[in-house]
Amino acid sequence: MIAGAPGPGQRRGLAREVGVSGVALHGGQAARARLRPAPVGSGRVFTWGDRPPLLAHIDAVEAGAYATLLAGQGWRLRTVEHLLAACAALDIDDVEIAVDGDELPVLDGSAGPWLRALQAAGPVDRPGARPCAHVRQPVTVGGPGRWARLSPGPGLVIAISTRFSHPALGQQQLEIAIDGPRFAQEIADARTFGFLHEVEALRARGLVRGGSLDNAVVYGPDGPINPGGLRWPDEVVRHKLLDVLGDLALLGHPLVGRVEAECPGHSLTHALLRAALAQPGALEIAPPGCTPAPSG
Ligand SMILES: [Zn+2]
Repeated sequence: MIAGAPGPGQRRGLAREVGVSGVALHGGQAARARLRPAPVGSGRVFTWGDRPPLLAHIDAVEAGAYATLLAGQGWRLRTVEHLLAACAALDIDDVEIAVDGDELPVLDGSAGPWLRALQAAGPVDRPGARPCAHVRQPVTVGGPGRWARLSPGPGLVIAISTRFSHPALGQQQLEIAIDGPRFAQEIADARTFGFLHEVEALRARGLVRGGSLDNAVVYGPDGPINPGGLRWPDEVVRHKLLDVLGDLALLGHPLVGRVEAECPGHSLTHALLRAALAQPGALEIAPPGCTPAPSG
């Protein structure tokens, strides 16, 4: 059971602390995180020992190759996007994520275990301003074959298309109006994916050292080699949509508008957010349900 959206003007946090543990996808080491209640208005904040906290915000993004990497305050944290997607889908505004290393656990490669951990931590409405980022003007980044666009709309709708040369993948597309129940049923459990022929090259670069058939869909020449196969025939585009939602959460406010992307990756979504923030009038931070101010 998933609680509905917070009431107007209400923020949402957690009632209790919950721990999650697993392996780091890229580093391969054991990784743990504790999801903790945080003060109203604090946002989604990562902490590691006595280091200064790191806010999940686009300004803290250092890189977006294969995973979203946050950096600042003298430390770095990798692979934050699946947890942030679950926070966004459940409207969790304020949470401390206490980690014990430089990467979050990958779990099964999806956002499902994060979603269930957040639910176990008891999402709870609390008084406090909860403004949204309303898209007021279109914003586009990228070019032919690989682009992303924001445009005005009454709620958050994400429309994604992917295209891969692998014959088992081809072209996939999906459009969904994001809310907690739909995310839980249709998106959260879609796993990250990769190609068998790329694994050795990625490992040589220090990536996917913790990757296995337990935490990723791996495509061989004839299709997925995971014994259980796919969770959906179009699991790849569902995971891409999950990643886009997680990266959009780096805005720090719930987004109200339509998001479209062709062949998105983390860097493209980060570029879209930066372009929206840099374009005067593209976003308006205002209460939910707020209609545009008259122009002229
Ligand atoms: Zn992902």
